[in-house]
Parts: sequence; C-alpha cells; structure tokens
Amino acid sequence: MTEDGMPRELISREVLDRRVGELADEIERDYADSEELLCVGVLKGSVFFMSDLLQRLSRPLVVDFFQTSSYRGETTSPGEVRIRRDLDHSLAGRDVLLIEDIVDTGYTMRTIMALMGFRGARSVRLCVLLDKACKRETPVQIHYRGFEVDDVFVVGYGLDYDDRYRNLPYIGVLEEPGASE
Ligand code: 5GP
Repeated sequence: MTEDGMPRELISREVLDRRVGELADEIERDYADSEELLCVGVLKGSVFFMSDLLQRLSRPLVVDFFQTSSYRGETTSPGEVRIRRDLDHSLAGRDVLLIEDIVDTGYTMRTIMALMGFRGARSVRLCVLLDKACKRETPVQIHYRGFEVDDVFVVGYGLDYDDRYRNLPYIGVLEEPGASE
C-alpha cells in the first residue's frame, strides 16, 4: 500500500492503454476474414478491460457475458469451477473470443474453454489481460496476453478484492489483503 492507503502501482494506465491497443490490432488482423465475432466476457473482472478492448475493434461483433464462482474475499484459487450466470447466445458455429482479466491456476479458463468447444463453437480463442504463469496448475492456451505478472495479488482495472478496487484506473498490488479489516 502507498502512504494514502492505495494499492501500489504495478502497471500504469498509460501502459495498460498502449497494450490494450496492441492487442486490439492483433485481434482485428487475425479475424479480418471471419464473420461476426462473439465476444464473451467473464464477469465481473473482465468488464473494464473488455470495454476498452472492444471499443478499439471496428469489425462486427456481439457481446455476451457469463459468470463463474468468485473468490468471495479469499486469496487462493478454488479448483472447482461453478457457472453462476450463463450466456444469452448460442455458440454453435460461432467464432468466440473469450475475454478474461487474469489466469492464475488455469482451472477457470480450462473449464470454460472446454465447455465452449462442447457447445459447438467453431473456434475459441482466449484473450487475457494478466497471466500469472508461475501459479499455473493446469495448462491453458492463451492466444492474446496483455502482461505476465508475478505471484502477487493484483487489483484495479476491473480486478477486485471482495468487490472493491475495481475502479482503480491502474493495476495495483494489494500487499496484505484483509489486513485493514
Ligand atoms: P484460476 O481459475 O485461473 O485460478 O483463477 C482465475 C480467477 O481468479 C480470476 O478470474 C480472478 O477472479 C481470480 N484471481 C486470480 N488471481 C487474482 C489476483 O491476483 N487478483 C484478483 N483480484 N483476482 C485474482
């Protein structure tokens, strides 16, 4: 924490903006010949990143969301993944771009990507803002990666601790989650 009690800055807003722009350019190029893209965000953490990313795409796309079980104030990942809110759209025959805030152990994304394939998506690619590769317990193929981060608990730009800090405009490190409660 800094002296004013805010999480220490790890990735600034300027650096985030630049990288999100680069990811959008890559996605735009890769999907140049495909039909309407189905962009699926994982609630709630991906929302800020997804909003900035998709506003930079000029191709036709549809936005959808689903939600998995969350941390509920804990700082370790559960191996079991529960779907709390499902998609509105059918995946059959669609090109799907899955957008997530962070991959940690990999269980969440592995489960969701398998489910999308099972539901008949034509293709599924994963776009992740932050990759905590050092914590991976199960392999996940990441097609678009913003940044790799160390084993620290990050908040801001959509990422939370107990639903707080999501509106920080930068990615910060929460040194001791819960220490002030
Ligand atoms: P995984 O299934 O890959 O272990 O967990 C992915 C989910 O864990 C992310 O969507 C996110 O909700 C949560 N998570 C993992 N690491 C962090 C972190 O450093 N900060 C926050 N805020 N959430 C995290």
